[in-house]
Amino acid sequence: MLSNRPQSPKEEDCCGNSCNPCIFDVHKNLLKQWELKKLNSKSNNILEPLVYKLFKVYELKQLNDDYITLILRYSDKEINDGRVIFNPGQHVVINYLKWSKPFTPISWSDDTITFLIRIYADGINTKRLKNLEIGELIKVRGPYGDFVYSRNKFKSIVMLSIGSGLAAFLPIIKSIVDDEEDETRVCLNAGFRSLDLVPLTRNLQLFTDYWNIECNLYLTEDASKKVNGINIEKGRIDERICKCILDNYSASSSLVLICGTEKFNLSLEKWIVECNFMNYHVFK
Ligand SMILES: Cc1cc2nc3c(=O)[nH]c(=O)nc-3n(C[C@H](O)[C@H](O)[C@H](O)COP(=O)(O)OP(=O)(O)OC[C@H]3O[C@@H](n4cnc5c(N)ncnc54)[C@H](O)[C@@H]3O)c2cc1C
Repeated sequence: MLSNRPQSPKEEDCCGNSCNPCIFDVHKNLLKQWELKKLNSKSNNILEPLVYKLFKVYELKQLNDDYITLILRYSDKEINDGRVIFNPGQHVVINYLKWSKPFTPISWSDDTITFLIRIYADGINTKRLKNLEIGELIKVRGPYGDFVYSRNKFKSIVMLSIGSGLAAFLPIIKSIVDDEEDETRVCLNAGFRSLDLVPLTRNLQLFTDYWNIECNLYLTEDASKKVNGINIEKGRIDERICKCILDNYSASSSLVLICGTEKFNLSLEKWIVECNFMNYHVFK
Protein backbone atom coordinates (compact mmCIF):
# COMPACT_ATOMS: atom_id res chain seq x y z
CA MET A 1 0.00 0.00 0.00
CA LEU A 2 1.07 3.58 -0.63
CA SER A 3 2.00 5.67 2.41
CA ASN A 4 -0.45 8.27 3.68
CA ARG A 5 -1.19 11.58 1.97
CA PRO A 6 1.19 14.31 3.24
CA GLN A 7 -0.59 16.20 6.01
CA SER A 8 -1.55 19.81 5.15
CA PRO A 9 0.29 22.43 7.24
CA LYS A 10 -1.91 24.72 9.33
CA GLU A 11 -2.10 28.46 8.55
CA GLU A 12 -0.16 29.17 11.77
CA ASP A 13 2.69 26.85 10.66
CA CYS A 14 3.78 29.60 8.23
CA CYS A 15 5.92 32.24 9.97
CA GLY A 16 5.16 34.84 7.28
CA ASN A 17 8.86 35.64 6.71
CA SER A 18 8.87 34.55 3.03
CA CYS A 19 11.09 31.53 3.80
CA ASN A 20 12.47 29.66 0.79
CA PRO A 21 11.10 27.03 0.59
CA CYS A 22 7.98 28.02 2.49
CA ILE A 23 6.25 25.20 4.40
CA PHE A 24 3.33 25.43 1.94
CA ASP A 25 5.67 24.99 -1.05
CA VAL A 26 7.23 21.95 0.60
CA HIS A 27 3.75 20.51 1.16
CA LYS A 28 2.77 21.25 -2.46
CA ASN A 29 5.83 19.37 -3.74
CA LEU A 30 5.27 16.42 -1.41
CA LEU A 31 1.64 16.27 -2.52
CA LYS A 32 2.68 16.28 -6.19
CA GLN A 33 5.13 13.42 -5.60
CA TRP A 34 2.52 11.50 -3.62
CA GLU A 35 -0.10 11.94 -6.36
CA LEU A 36 2.34 10.74 -9.03
CA LYS A 37 3.37 7.72 -6.92
CA LYS A 38 -0.29 6.90 -6.35
CA LEU A 39 -0.95 7.00 -10.09
CA ASN A 40 2.06 4.89 -10.92
CA SER A 41 1.46 2.50 -8.06
CA LYS A 42 2.32 -0.99 -9.30
CA SER A 43 -0.52 -2.60 -7.41
CA ASN A 44 -3.13 -0.72 -9.47
CA ASN A 45 -1.62 0.34 -12.74
CA ILE A 46 -1.17 -2.19 -15.55
CA LEU A 47 1.53 0.11 -16.92
CA GLU A 48 5.05 0.26 -15.54
CA PRO A 49 7.67 2.91 -16.34
CA LEU A 50 10.53 0.41 -16.61
CA VAL A 51 8.83 -2.63 -18.12
CA TYR A 52 7.15 -2.91 -21.52
CA LYS A 53 3.61 -4.31 -21.34
CA LEU A 54 2.01 -6.01 -24.34
CA PHE A 55 -1.03 -4.44 -25.94
CA LYS A 56 -2.92 -5.48 -29.07
CA VAL A 57 -4.17 -3.22 -31.83
CA TYR A 58 -7.92 -3.05 -31.15
CA GLU A 59 -9.07 -0.32 -33.55
CA LEU A 60 -7.43 2.01 -36.05
CA LYS A 61 -9.29 4.88 -37.71
CA GLN A 62 -8.01 7.22 -40.41
CA LEU A 63 -9.35 10.69 -39.47
CA ASN A 64 -7.89 12.65 -42.39
CA ASP A 65 -4.69 12.73 -44.51
CA ASP A 66 -2.56 13.55 -41.45
CA TYR A 67 -4.10 11.78 -38.46
CA ILE A 68 -5.22 8.39 -37.20
CA THR A 69 -6.65 7.30 -33.87
CA LEU A 70 -5.22 4.06 -32.57
CA ILE A 71 -6.82 2.06 -29.77
CA LEU A 72 -4.62 -0.49 -28.01
CA ARG A 73 -6.03 -3.13 -25.68
CA TYR A 74 -4.09 -4.81 -22.89
CA SER A 75 -3.33 -8.32 -24.06
CA ASP A 76 -2.44 -10.17 -20.85
CA LYS A 77 -5.79 -11.55 -19.79
CA GLU A 78 -4.26 -13.52 -16.89
CA ILE A 79 -3.59 -10.38 -14.93
CA ASN A 80 -6.92 -9.02 -13.81
CA ASP A 81 -5.95 -7.04 -10.73
CA GLY A 82 -4.78 -3.92 -12.51
CA ARG A 83 -6.10 -1.26 -14.84
CA VAL A 84 -4.74 1.48 -17.05
CA ILE A 85 -4.18 4.64 -14.99
CA PHE A 86 -3.00 8.02 -16.29
CA ASN A 87 -2.89 11.54 -15.09
CA PRO A 88 -4.30 13.69 -17.95
CA GLY A 89 -1.37 14.96 -20.03
CA GLN A 90 0.98 12.08 -19.21
CA HIS A 91 2.56 10.10 -22.04
CA VAL A 92 3.90 6.60 -22.69
CA VAL A 93 6.58 5.17 -24.93
CA ILE A 94 5.25 2.77 -27.50
CA ASN A 95 7.48 0.24 -29.21
CA TYR A 96 6.69 -1.37 -32.55
CA LEU A 97 9.34 -3.55 -34.16
CA LYS A 98 12.57 -1.60 -33.52
CA TRP A 99 10.88 1.81 -33.27
CA SER A 100 10.11 3.47 -29.92
CA LYS A 101 8.58 6.93 -29.52
CA PRO A 102 6.55 8.86 -26.93
CA PHE A 103 2.80 9.29 -27.49
CA THR A 104 0.14 10.94 -25.35
CA PRO A 105 -3.12 9.07 -24.73
CA ILE A 106 -6.18 11.15 -25.51
CA SER A 107 -8.44 8.78 -23.55
CA TRP A 108 -8.34 5.40 -21.82
CA SER A 109 -10.46 2.76 -20.11
CA ASP A 110 -9.47 0.03 -17.65
CA ASP A 111 -7.76 -2.00 -20.41
CA THR A 112 -7.55 0.26 -23.47
CA ILE A 113 -5.59 3.35 -24.48
CA THR A 114 -6.53 5.67 -27.37
CA PHE A 115 -3.87 7.70 -29.18
CA LEU A 116 -4.10 10.50 -31.71
CA ILE A 117 -1.19 9.98 -34.07
CA ARG A 118 0.13 12.20 -36.81
CA ILE A 119 1.21 10.27 -39.90
CA TYR A 120 4.00 12.06 -41.76
CA ALA A 121 3.84 11.69 -45.55
CA ASP A 122 7.65 11.43 -45.67
CA GLY A 123 7.94 9.46 -42.44
CA ILE A 124 9.02 5.83 -42.46
CA ASN A 125 7.85 5.00 -38.96
CA THR A 126 4.50 6.70 -38.55
CA LYS A 127 3.45 5.41 -42.00
CA ARG A 128 3.99 1.87 -40.64
CA LEU A 129 1.54 2.58 -37.82
CA LYS A 130 -1.11 3.48 -40.36
CA ASN A 131 -0.89 -0.04 -41.79
CA LEU A 132 -1.07 -1.93 -38.47
CA GLU A 133 -3.35 -4.95 -38.51
CA ILE A 134 -5.99 -5.56 -35.84
CA GLY A 135 -4.50 -7.90 -33.23
CA GLU A 136 -0.86 -6.93 -33.88
CA LEU A 137 1.24 -6.58 -30.75
CA ILE A 138 2.61 -3.22 -29.55
CA LYS A 139 4.71 -2.74 -26.42
CA VAL A 140 3.89 0.13 -24.07
CA ARG A 141 5.76 1.49 -21.04
CA GLY A 142 5.00 4.48 -18.83
CA PRO A 143 3.32 6.64 -17.73
CA TYR A 144 5.71 9.57 -17.78
CA GLY A 145 5.36 13.31 -17.25
CA ASP A 146 5.02 15.29 -14.05
CA PHE A 147 2.08 17.54 -14.92
CA VAL A 148 -0.62 17.19 -12.29
CA TYR A 149 -3.91 18.96 -12.88
CA SER A 150 -5.64 20.37 -9.79
CA ARG A 151 -9.25 21.45 -10.08
CA ASN A 152 -9.97 25.20 -9.58
CA LYS A 153 -6.34 26.01 -8.78
CA PHE A 154 -6.34 28.61 -11.56
CA LYS A 155 -9.19 30.74 -12.82
CA SER A 156 -8.17 30.12 -16.44
CA ILE A 157 -5.99 27.82 -18.47
CA VAL A 158 -4.61 29.05 -21.77
CA MET A 159 -3.58 26.12 -23.98
CA LEU A 160 -1.26 26.64 -26.95
CA SER A 161 -0.48 23.79 -29.33
CA ILE A 162 0.44 22.95 -32.87
CA GLY A 163 -0.33 19.71 -34.68
CA SER A 164 -0.39 16.55 -32.59
CA GLY A 165 0.45 18.64 -29.50
CA LEU A 166 -3.33 18.89 -29.18
CA ALA A 167 -3.28 15.30 -27.83
CA ALA A 168 -1.92 16.40 -24.44
CA PHE A 169 -4.76 18.88 -23.95
CA LEU A 170 -7.76 16.71 -24.85
CA PRO A 171 -7.73 14.57 -21.65
CA ILE A 172 -7.19 17.68 -19.51
CA ILE A 173 -10.20 19.42 -21.04
CA LYS A 174 -12.22 16.20 -20.68
CA SER A 175 -11.38 15.96 -16.98
CA ILE A 176 -12.49 19.59 -16.49
CA VAL A 177 -15.84 19.22 -18.27
CA ASP A 178 -16.52 15.90 -16.53
CA ASP A 179 -16.06 17.51 -13.12
CA GLU A 180 -19.16 19.50 -12.21
CA GLU A 181 -17.29 21.28 -9.44
CA ASP A 182 -14.50 22.46 -11.69
CA GLU A 183 -15.05 26.09 -12.73
CA THR A 184 -11.78 26.57 -14.57
CA ARG A 185 -12.13 28.40 -17.87
CA VAL A 186 -10.16 26.94 -20.77
CA CYS A 187 -9.01 28.80 -23.86
CA LEU A 188 -7.64 26.24 -26.32
CA ASN A 189 -5.53 27.65 -29.16
CA ALA A 190 -4.41 25.06 -31.67
CA GLY A 191 -2.45 25.57 -34.88
CA PHE A 192 -2.92 23.46 -38.02
CA ARG A 193 -2.43 23.82 -41.76
CA SER A 194 -6.08 23.71 -42.84
CA LEU A 195 -9.47 22.73 -41.44
CA ASP A 196 -9.44 19.44 -43.40
CA LEU A 197 -6.33 18.44 -41.45
CA VAL A 198 -7.70 19.24 -38.00
CA PRO A 199 -8.39 15.95 -36.18
CA LEU A 200 -11.40 15.33 -33.93
CA THR A 201 -13.17 18.58 -34.85
CA ARG A 202 -16.48 17.15 -33.61
CA ASN A 203 -14.93 16.47 -30.17
CA LEU A 204 -13.66 20.05 -30.05
CA GLN A 205 -17.13 21.33 -30.97
CA LEU A 206 -18.70 19.26 -28.18
CA PHE A 207 -16.24 20.74 -25.69
CA THR A 208 -17.31 24.24 -26.69
CA ASP A 209 -20.90 23.38 -25.68
CA TYR A 210 -19.63 23.81 -22.11
CA TRP A 211 -19.78 27.37 -20.78
CA ASN A 212 -16.12 27.34 -19.75
CA ILE A 213 -14.44 25.99 -22.89
CA GLU A 214 -13.37 28.20 -25.80
CA CYS A 215 -11.63 26.85 -28.88
CA ASN A 216 -9.62 28.86 -31.40
CA LEU A 217 -8.03 27.26 -34.44
CA TYR A 218 -5.17 29.03 -36.23
CA LEU A 219 -4.89 27.84 -39.82
CA THR A 220 -1.94 28.70 -42.04
CA GLU A 221 -3.72 27.85 -45.29
CA ASP A 222 -7.44 28.10 -46.05
CA ALA A 223 -9.32 29.63 -43.10
CA SER A 224 -12.54 30.49 -44.95
CA LYS A 225 -14.69 27.60 -43.68
CA LYS A 226 -16.83 27.89 -40.56
CA VAL A 227 -17.43 25.38 -37.76
CA ASN A 228 -20.15 25.97 -35.17
CA GLY A 229 -18.71 26.80 -31.76
CA ILE A 230 -15.12 27.06 -32.95
CA ASN A 231 -13.41 30.33 -33.77
CA ILE A 232 -11.22 30.08 -36.87
CA GLU A 233 -8.37 32.52 -37.52
CA LYS A 234 -5.90 32.72 -40.40
CA GLY A 235 -2.22 32.61 -39.47
CA ARG A 236 0.18 30.80 -37.17
CA ILE A 237 0.50 31.16 -33.41
CA ASP A 238 3.34 33.68 -33.55
CA GLU A 239 4.55 36.28 -31.05
CA ARG A 240 1.84 38.81 -31.90
CA ILE A 241 -0.99 36.29 -31.65
CA CYS A 242 0.43 34.73 -28.48
CA LYS A 243 0.70 38.09 -26.74
CA CYS A 244 -2.75 39.10 -28.01
CA ILE A 245 -4.26 35.94 -26.47
CA LEU A 246 -2.47 36.51 -23.15
CA ASP A 247 -3.72 40.14 -23.03
CA ASN A 248 -7.14 38.76 -22.07
CA TYR A 249 -5.84 36.91 -19.01
CA SER A 250 -4.35 37.73 -15.64
CA ALA A 251 -0.83 36.34 -15.17
CA SER A 252 -1.42 35.58 -11.49
CA SER A 253 -4.63 33.58 -11.90
CA SER A 254 -3.88 31.78 -15.18
CA LEU A 255 -1.96 28.68 -16.11
CA VAL A 256 -0.43 28.43 -19.58
CA LEU A 257 0.11 25.02 -21.16
CA ILE A 258 2.32 24.58 -24.23
CA CYS A 259 2.66 21.54 -26.49
CA GLY A 260 4.18 21.43 -29.95
CA THR A 261 7.51 21.00 -31.68
CA GLU A 262 10.73 21.86 -29.86
CA LYS A 263 10.96 25.15 -31.76
CA PHE A 264 7.33 26.05 -31.00
CA ASN A 265 7.76 25.20 -27.30
CA LEU A 266 10.91 27.31 -26.96
CA SER A 267 9.39 30.36 -28.71
CA LEU A 268 6.13 30.18 -26.79
CA GLU A 269 7.91 29.78 -23.46
CA LYS A 270 10.00 32.88 -24.23
CA TRP A 271 6.96 34.98 -25.18
CA ILE A 272 4.81 34.00 -22.22
CA VAL A 273 7.66 34.70 -19.76
CA GLU A 274 8.08 38.12 -21.44
CA CYS A 275 4.42 38.71 -20.59
CA ASN A 276 5.14 37.73 -16.95
CA PHE A 277 3.11 34.52 -17.06
CA MET A 278 5.15 32.41 -14.66
CA ASN A 279 2.60 29.62 -14.10
CA TYR A 280 3.20 27.44 -17.11
CA HIS A 281 4.02 23.90 -18.17
CA VAL A 282 5.63 22.71 -21.39
CA PHE A 283 4.77 19.15 -22.45
CA LYS A 284 7.93 17.67 -23.97
C1 LIG B 1 6.28 13.70 -24.83
C2 LIG B 1 5.89 13.51 -26.28
C3 LIG B 1 4.60 13.12 -26.59
C4 LIG B 1 4.22 12.93 -27.92
N1 LIG B 1 2.92 12.58 -28.21
C5 LIG B 1 2.55 12.45 -29.49
C6 LIG B 1 1.18 12.13 -29.81
O1 LIG B 1 0.33 11.95 -28.93
N2 LIG B 1 0.86 12.01 -31.13
C7 LIG B 1 1.79 12.18 -32.14
O2 LIG B 1 1.44 12.07 -33.31
N3 LIG B 1 3.08 12.46 -31.86
C8 LIG B 1 3.48 12.58 -30.57
N4 LIG B 1 4.79 12.86 -30.29
C9 LIG B 1 5.79 12.83 -31.40
C10 LIG B 1 6.23 11.38 -31.65
O3 LIG B 1 6.86 10.86 -30.50
C11 LIG B 1 7.25 11.25 -32.80
O4 LIG B 1 8.28 12.17 -32.61
C12 LIG B 1 6.63 11.45 -34.17
O5 LIG B 1 5.64 10.46 -34.35
C13 LIG B 1 7.66 11.33 -35.29
O6 LIG B 1 8.38 10.16 -35.13
P1 LIG B 1 9.40 9.67 -36.28
O7 LIG B 1 10.30 10.81 -36.65
O8 LIG B 1 10.07 8.40 -35.85
O9 LIG B 1 8.39 9.35 -37.44
P2 LIG B 1 8.58 9.23 -38.98
O10 LIG B 1 7.23 8.90 -39.50
O11 LIG B 1 9.71 8.31 -39.35
O12 LIG B 1 9.05 10.68 -39.44
C14 LIG B 1 8.25 11.78 -39.27
C15 LIG B 1 8.63 12.90 -40.21
O13 LIG B 1 8.34 14.15 -39.62
C16 LIG B 1 9.53 14.78 -39.15
N5 LIG B 1 9.22 15.08 -37.75
C17 LIG B 1 9.28 14.21 -36.73
N6 LIG B 1 8.90 14.81 -35.61
C18 LIG B 1 8.60 16.07 -35.94
C19 LIG B 1 8.15 17.19 -35.23
N7 LIG B 1 7.94 17.15 -33.92
N8 LIG B 1 7.91 18.32 -35.93
C20 LIG B 1 8.11 18.40 -37.24
N9 LIG B 1 8.53 17.38 -37.96
C21 LIG B 1 8.78 16.25 -37.32
C22 LIG B 1 10.62 13.80 -39.34
O14 LIG B 1 11.82 14.46 -39.64
C23 LIG B 1 10.09 12.98 -40.53
O15 LIG B 1 10.25 13.66 -41.72
C24 LIG B 1 5.18 13.09 -28.97
C25 LIG B 1 6.48 13.47 -28.65
C26 LIG B 1 6.83 13.69 -27.34
C27 LIG B 1 8.24 14.11 -27.04
